[in-house]
Amino acid sequence: LNTFLNNLPTTVFSVMTELAIKHQSVNLGQGFPDDEGPESMKRIVGEASRERHNQYPPTGGIPELRQAVARHSERYVGLPVNWQTETLITVGATEALAAAFLGLVNPGDEVIIFDPQYDSYSAMAVRTGATVVPVPLDANNSWRVPGQALAQAFSPRTKLILVNSPHNPTGAVFHEDDLREIARLCVEHDVIAICDEVYEHQVFGDSKHVSLRAMPEMRERAIRIGSAGKTFSLTGWKVGWVTGPARLIQALGKAHMFVTFTVAANLQLAVAHGLDKESSFYEGLSASLQSKKDYLAGQLQQLGFEILPSAGTYFLVADFSGLAHSDAQEDDVAFAKRLTVEAGVTTIPVSAFYNGKSAPHNLIRFCFCKTDQKLQSACERLQKYF
Ligand code: PMP
Ligand code: GLN
Repeated sequence: LNTFLNNLPTTVFSVMTELAIKHQSVNLGQGFPDDEGPESMKRIVGEASRERHNQYPPTGGIPELRQAVARHSERYVGLPVNWQTETLITVGATEALAAAFLGLVNPGDEVIIFDPQYDSYSAMAVRTGATVVPVPLDANNSWRVPGQALAQAFSPRTKLILVNSPHNPTGAVFHEDDLREIARLCVEHDVIAICDEVYEHQVFGDSKHVSLRAMPEMRERAIRIGSAGKTFSLTGWKVGWVTGPARLIQALGKAHMFVTFTVAANLQLAVAHGLDKESSFYEGLSASLQSKKDYLAGQLQQLGFEILPSAGTYFLVADFSGLAHSDAQEDDVAFAKRLTVEAGVTTIPVSAFYNGKSAPHNLIRFCFCKTDQKLQSACERLQKYF
């Protein structure tokens, strides 16, 4: 058995969803939408597999999807890419991340990852023999990139930095100035950036998603990852894509070739169709999420939670200090468990997203991509409880 992986705890998403099922709570923990995705895409999956599209597709992805990914890149980040050499289709963003670590990192390399972080990053990075150098983002500084700490994290052994914007779990959308500083450091230290932009279409109000990879100095040293799970509310399909310079895409393609080889062809065909959707589809996604976020944030605030601003994703983070059991010094894990078992609402303790030692223990994450009725029912349960 592999010692490292086997010593890791079960991912918090499975733990909390199992707890939610056991206690029949309203699950606002694991990030998956109630929306079941566009009908037109599901129709294509059925039609495609009735006709053909049931055998191994090419390892890099079917041409229709790779071309659609290239068009999407030009349309949304203004970055033309060559579909044959600069795109790759993967089994969700998770496999893209795994392929990136497997394909780009050598044992002994250092990898910079901001804390809090999506939990698969460090698990994969360490498994490839890299050392993770965590750089903590501070809730009290609106999760902004700490310039000095980041600069100090770079060393001659730094191979890559992971930049997830919009950011899970905080909902932060990285400022353009912060991205410029990351780009400057990457160039200075000859470092590659993995840009996890799976929430690129879930951005609220005046906030604007800026892609690090679209900055001219980053084009040859960054890859950009997207996910049909997030963009089309189809998390169970596990279709992801990567764009980047041919040299890096080739390296990821090698890893992908020997791990999964390819991705279901009927799903790829439907995602190709989805990516060409009219702009109103993408705009509607953010608009509907924003009203859900505003509703939930307002309700939680009235109950005594302190809501931290969320500019993107479908998550919001709340400080529960005012509602914790003060005598027991209740931490986020205990509070989230109590909320599931006693109030009937499941969330995720934010400390689970920390790799370094800087985890706060007063924050929980709510997922709000749920039906209005479900959000209302969660709020009613919380009102009754507190
Ligand atoms: N990156 C981030 C930041 C995520 O939140 C997730 C999933 N929630 C993923 C990657 C993985 O995406 P997929 O389901 O497409 O593998
Ligand atoms: N990304 C989702 C979240 O943050 C969960 C993905 C998973 O369950 N692995 O909640």
